[in-house]
Amino acid sequence: MRLLAAVLLVVGALAAVGFARHEDRIRQQDRLAVVATQLAGRDVGVHCPSFLGGLVDTHGEAGRVQFDASGRPADHTELAPETCKALRHLDRVDFTCIGRGNCGFSQFQAAWAAHTLAHESFHLRGFSDEGVTECYALQNTAFVAEQLGVAPEQAKQVQRWVYEKGYPNEPEEYHSSKCYDGGPLDLRPQSSVFP
Ligand SMILES: [Zn+2]
Repeated sequence: MRLLAAVLLVVGALAAVGFARHEDRIRQQDRLAVVATQLAGRDVGVHCPSFLGGLVDTHGEAGRVQFDASGRPADHTELAPETCKALRHLDRVDFTCIGRGNCGFSQFQAAWAAHTLAHESFHLRGFSDEGVTECYALQNTAFVAEQLGVAPEQAKQVQRWVYEKGYPNEPEEYHSSKCYDGGPLDLRPQSSVFP
């Protein structure tokens, strides 16, 4: 009888942990959806994989948005477990290392996750071309970072950093010949700051 009680106690504790994790995930998804909705210009959702879902995730992408045969985007994006993990505590990441030039991979991963959410949000807005989507995302990474708790000045540095260190290493299809200061995809043509 004592064994049964112990088993029940463990099962109950596991269920409680599982429920807390679930609640946590839902809360994070809601928080990210608020940011994505602003960039997408319509009500959209953000999915973070559950613990088990994260284990079988094999897409290998930081995030994705499904488009149907007629070219219409889905109403939500699926983010990779690493992207969700990095976004969860973005406000606690110390990005002052960018100014000092001694950041590590974890900071870059966090910056890239903010950029990924911006990128998927522009897919959700209806852009399927990777080059165009990426150009808009590069100009809105600071917005995402700031929305998720990064100080405004640091958020700007994060955006600049992603542009300088991440963008050049991306595949050709993510580059657009129209993506430059004052170009057709410049969202702030009056400003000489780009992105
Ligand atoms: Zn894309």
